Amino acid sequence: MNVHEYQGKEILRKYGVTTPRGIACFSVDEAVAAAEKLGGKVWVVKAQIHAGGRGLGGGVKVATSMEQVREYADAILGMQLVTHQTGPEGKEVKRLYIEEGADIADELYVGALVDRETQKVVLMCSSEGGMSIEEVAEETPEKIIKIYVDPTEGLNRAEAEDVCAKIGMPAEAISEGADFLAGLYEAFVKSDASLAEINPLVITGDKRVIALDAKFNIDSNALYRQPEIVAYRDLDEEDANEIEASKWDLSYISLDGNIGCLVNGAGLAMATMDIIKLYGGDPANFLDVGGGANAEQVTEAFKIMLGNENVEGILVNIFGGIMQCDVIAEGIVAAAKQVDMKVPLVVRLEGTNVEKGRQILDESDVKLQTATTMADAAEKIVAAVKA
Ligand code: ADP
Ligand code: MG
Repeated sequence: MNVHEYQGKEILRKYGVTTPRGIACFSVDEAVAAAEKLGGKVWVVKAQIHAGGRGLGGGVKVATSMEQVREYADAILGMQLVTHQTGPEGKEVKRLYIEEGADIADELYVGALVDRETQKVVLMCSSEGGMSIEEVAEETPEKIIKIYVDPTEGLNRAEAEDVCAKIGMPAEAISEGADFLAGLYEAFVKSDASLAEINPLVITGDKRVIALDAKFNIDSNALYRQPEIVAYRDLDEEDANEIEASKWDLSYISLDGNIGCLVNGAGLAMATMDIIKLYGGDPANFLDVGGGANAEQVTEAFKIMLGNENVEGILVNIFGGIMQCDVIAEGIVAAAKQVDMKVPLVVRLEGTNVEKGRQILDESDVKLQTATTMADAAEKIVAAVKA
């Protein structure tokens, strides 16, 4: 689950990481009132959407008067903000963050994420802040310095100070920089984050170290023990199909293609998407109905896929283990009767009671093609969609 920048900064502050002061708002009047409340002479009006690169897209503006705060808030609120992370259609801005302007002497980068290879949290630190870190990693990887944190020992102070110096913090800022990294690490671990990125981390004119931006990605599997973070959820920023699927305990991810996939088991779902690709098709989603799906879940899964206007065909690929093929076949028939199945449907069943399952499908009046192997199924659905 993603959170907004201002929410990420709230998390950071809890762990002692310094950020500029700011107020989240939902209207132009609120934005002006927020700037008045913050005081000072410079304010930054920042679009709050779950995507980076807002500055380049015109979603971050520095204002030096109340008139400008009003003008920028009015321009940004409601705009369709396009960044390299939103896709060409962009994202409508519904929230703003009004923040005090920082006196920036230098922009650095720090990111925390889980390194699967070493099974540790890694802090990636770089002197190249403010720009796309992907580009830095591609072109000048030596400019990214990594700290692997041993979970039993925590962040090593000497190592943190050493890295702060290496990424260009002035001597006076090193101690505060190491505190910053320690706070970020703690925030990452305590909030069950899978990614926490501060880009830029800035050194101010008076050598303070502050987080000017914050991107947090929280591990959804840990949300049951993160009620404060769940409260940050902004459904406007999430895919409507994914929200619907989560209500039915379906693991569903929207993709760009036109072949809907209904599969049980994450591994089989991945393999199904691969084989669709191999036969020249494009999956419209990843969907794992789980090992013990019932007819109701299958029906809801069909509804979600058919509600996606890009879907031009559906492939059902079920391995009957715990779940028996005849039960699934009955579920498919029931679902197909409930929803208006207006696209071609290919069903491949394998496993327990497969003969009985196929018989149920054959004898039903649901319009579908059955397939035996995965290759057969993929070939049939790709052909049906192209026809
Ligand atoms: P994004 O990464 O989505 O473009 P950022 O929050 O990183 O958004 O803002 C983009 C740029 O705007 C920053 O690199 C910084 O130069 C400037 N900026 C952002 N917030 C402030 C602030 N509070 N004071 C001064 N400049 C800011
Ligand atoms: Mg940024």
